[in-house]
Amino acid sequence: MINMSILKSLGLSINPKLHVTVLTGAGISIESGVPIFRGKGSMWEIPEARRLAMRASPPWNNKETWEFYEWRRKLVSQCKPNAAHYTLVEMENYFENFCLITQNVDGLHIKAGSKRVLELHGNMWKGRCMKCGKIIDLPETPLKTLPPCCECGYPLRPHVVQFGEPIDNKILIEALKASKEAELFLVIGTSGVVSPASQMPILALENGAKVIEINPNPTVLTPYMSLSIRGKAAETLPKLWKSFFTD
Ligand SMILES: [Zn+2]
Repeated sequence: MINMSILKSLGLSINPKLHVTVLTGAGISIESGVPIFRGKGSMWEIPEARRLAMRASPPWNNKETWEFYEWRRKLVSQCKPNAAHYTLVEMENYFENFCLITQNVDGLHIKAGSKRVLELHGNMWKGRCMKCGKIIDLPETPLKTLPPCCECGYPLRPHVVQFGEPIDNKILIEALKASKEAELFLVIGTSGVVSPASQMPILALENGAKVIEINPNPTVLTPYMSLSIRGKAAETLPKLWKSFFTD
């Protein structure tokens, strides 16, 4: 139950100059119906997904990899952003220094209208050329040809960080900077076990930020949080945001 000024209780006051950084994970997408990637109820329990995933292989710019991605893209194309995604758009519009970091590749933050999003693991609606480095928007599914090709003619790979691959260094540096500079840091729907994203709330805390976690379940981060709220993001975040403006 959120019925008081959470910010005030943390010693902060609402104003557009407050530095706010948000980290989102699978939890916010699950509430939009995006199939989860790990654990119980994940897409690995679907035989078709397992079969396609096993055929996807490096260097990822092949037909087999795209067949797996097209399977996922089709599912996600039916998912809509939820109230939590839209609340983050409102927050971006209000705060002058706002940074949204996400571990999700479904593109739902951008679909909702978020402008400045650091997508740590890439975006399934984009392809990347391994020859010229260009990143190409691929908003339509099904794609006409698999694999889709770059303007230079070379086959594209999905612009998604594969298991074991490093995060783009430029994005990582920006995300760490935004974590350090935050006065308020929100951790939404992420369990805090996947590094380096899991280090970001800790980095924020170490640099004096107040960190609020929203998650239906306790996580490894919970003991360190300034405040931990048990609940679904789509229900809790709009209430939390509203509470910022109450006395
Ligand atoms: Zn190219």
